[in-house]
Amino acid sequence: AVIAVTKESRAGETRVAATPETVKKLIAAGFAVTVEAGAGTAASYLDADYEAAGAMLAKDAKSAISGADILFKVRAPSQDEIAALKAGAIVAASLNPHQDKDTLNALAAKGASAVAMEFIPRITRAQVMDVLSSQANLAGYRAVIEGAEAYGKAMPMMMTAAGTVAAAKVFVMGVGVAGLQAIATARRLGAVVTATDVRPATKEQVESLGAKFIAVEDEEFKNAQTAGGYAKEMSAEYQAKQAELISSHIGKQDIVITTALIPGRPAPRLVTAAQVASMKAGSVIVDLAVEQGGNVEGVKLGETVVTANGVKILGAPNLPGRIAADASALYARNLFAFSSLLLNKEGQLAPDWEDEILKAALVTQGGAIVHPQLKA
Ligand code: NAD
Repeated sequence: AVIAVTKESRAGETRVAATPETVKKLIAAGFAVTVEAGAGTAASYLDADYEAAGAMLAKDAKSAISGADILFKVRAPSQDEIAALKAGAIVAASLNPHQDKDTLNALAAKGASAVAMEFIPRITRAQVMDVLSSQANLAGYRAVIEGAEAYGKAMPMMMTAAGTVAAAKVFVMGVGVAGLQAIATARRLGAVVTATDVRPATKEQVESLGAKFIAVEDEEFKNAQTAGGYAKEMSAEYQAKQAELISSHIGKQDIVITTALIPGRPAPRLVTAAQVASMKAGSVIVDLAVEQGGNVEGVKLGETVVTANGVKILGAPNLPGRIAADASALYARNLFAFSSLLLNKEGQLAPDWEDEILKAALVTQGGAIVHPQLKA
């Protein structure tokens, strides 16, 4: 079976869905791989290295895709790419299926078997395929780097002959995979770190990283985690209580990093304009949820907003794309692990669509949208 990997078409996307390392592994597993020329350049993976790993180079996306049984992407394929797919081709990508209905409809209309990598279930067997985790981890790291860069002061405490520099106070809101890495990174840089989440399990995780946990710990909080390990959408009452607690805390913070997401819903609003107005001049907020609508009132996608009181709100999308070589390496390994579900023992293309993992992540097949959460 032939896998195509094309250059990402979405503006600003620097990652790539296969690296020379995974091309080699895919070929060893029985696939042939076609890579569009220049597909990895923005992530520092060169055409010559793909060729040396055994890939065929294609001059453009169309010629790569038209001969392929499978298309691997980071983001959703473009309409042109979908048009070039062979009948019945398999597509695996972060399809953003709750929001990007046009892509979903086009994939269905083309008869593709499309797999949304975000829907890979969080079971042990699928951990190696978990692109949300591999990318969120890097995003959490990068958020601290971006925040530190925008912050006009030092992160660690320094005692010098000229006096003492105070340690920065970093507050992480939302302690999933990204938040935990943000805490760890801020701690390594010497900041004093606090964190909040609505899932009770996070308290111990926060404390084990040497940060302080802050949250309204009422009955609703005790039940705020779904069986799948995600947060529920909290009631208006809880959000009001939480906001009050956060208000008294946030004005003392130097860098705030927000990462809160609810699967299939807009990001919860965690920081109001009044809270931003209570912060000191020179403080920085990094909103990792900006692509899902943002956790912070006033955040603007792709911009740094400076408020009247001198607070910078960073709305940079796609932080994993700012660390493209590592982000691609991990994403590509996730896809390599996923590829094993597509072959039978003889190395032929024969996906078992009843497999728990494939079933959970398959969004279109046979001309229709098949995922229960996405059917109209
Ligand atoms: P996510 O990206 O969906 O959300 C980020 C964080 O925001 C979560 O911790 C969530 O609880 C939090 N949040 C949501 N609403 C909030 C609010 N109003 N206020 C404060 N925080 C809020 O989460 P994620 O990073 O994907 O992780 C979710 C869980 O899944 C974690 O427990 C993680 O450890 C777990 N996980 C398990 C596996 C596995 O078992 N294979 C893999 C990855 C992650």
